[in-house]
Amino acid sequence: MAIERLVEPTLAEDNSEEAKIEISLRPTSFKEYIGQEHLKNNLKLAIDAVKKRNDGSTLDHILLYGPPGLGKTTLAGVVAHELGASIRVTSGPAIERAGDLASILTNLKDGDVLFIDEIHRLKRAVEEVLYSAMEDYKLDIVIGKGPAARSMRLDLPKFTVIGATTRTGSLAGPLRDRFGIIHRLEYYKEPEIEQIINRTAKILKTRIEPRATALLAGRSRLTPRIANRLFKRVRDYADVNGDGIIDQEIARQSLELMEIDYLGLDPADRNMLRLMYDNYGDKPVGLTTIAALTGDEATTIEDYYEPYLLQLGLLVRTPRGRVVTEKGRKHLQNPKNNV
Ligand code: ADP
Repeated sequence: MAIERLVEPTLAEDNSEEAKIEISLRPTSFKEYIGQEHLKNNLKLAIDAVKKRNDGSTLDHILLYGPPGLGKTTLAGVVAHELGASIRVTSGPAIERAGDLASILTNLKDGDVLFIDEIHRLKRAVEEVLYSAMEDYKLDIVIGKGPAARSMRLDLPKFTVIGATTRTGSLAGPLRDRFGIIHRLEYYKEPEIEQIINRTAKILKTRIEPRATALLAGRSRLTPRIANRLFKRVRDYADVNGDGIIDQEIARQSLELMEIDYLGLDPADRNMLRLMYDNYGDKPVGLTTIAALTGDEATTIEDYYEPYLLQLGLLVRTPRGRVVTEKGRKHLQNPKNNV
């Protein structure tokens, strides 16, 4: 992406200190996993049914979709934990060839969970191998080349795929059909984000006052990963500029330094809205035009900027493009938001 964004809801680089903290904050059981009650109840039921049957059958394949940072990877880990199974984590872009998938699949054990993040980005050839693997736990492979080539079917262990995607629309129909359980993760409610912040504070042994928790929760874009990320920045600020306790004033100053306004928008969001409004007013703007205006990839706009702006009603999608709403325009024109 063009701009390094604090509110970007993607995972930190592996092995970095940030990534280690992120892992320590990950809930491992349904009990610790806050919110998404409807989804949790459905998954609990499916898991209990498998456990109760105890006839060697496995949990249906699960597709989770929704904006990044809402807890899809975390939930896959929780499901594996509740099943008492192991989890193997990979992603669509990481599986480059059908052979890569074959080696992952043949190394699974009965009952294992295979988590595939960004499953909409799987290559077609890989996807096709996955179909039969998911459907009847068979792996079709071709050995040799040319006229001497032979195809073989190998038995695979009975595993459960948990796929995650930011958009179901880009998932090929046949792949989508292989999932027995399909669920959307919703944005969290503010009190749930408060609970997540308080949980994080406890794990990181930091004191935070309730009014500071509420302030941070209001600016976290209703997304747990962003709540945790803001929390860590505010904690740094409190350590440097105070006695390490996060009170309302410390939280406010720190958010101001990060230029995050009261809706949780950062300079990149405001810049996008402003460019759209200044150039097109209340007329629809196509995705590629927005990308050209901001210098971002169209997919970045679609996955990272837009969902929350749509959720807030600052933008709407029409068949002819995105439009800045009256609420969006007011937000831009309010000098209080030009932090
Ligand atoms: P996604 O896979 O949807 O991008 P993640 O599962 O990586 O999101 O979640 C991001 C971070 O947010 C996790 O590291 C975890 O600490 C936190 N998190 C997500 N969901 C919850 C939840 N329901 N309760 C508490 N923390 C959560």
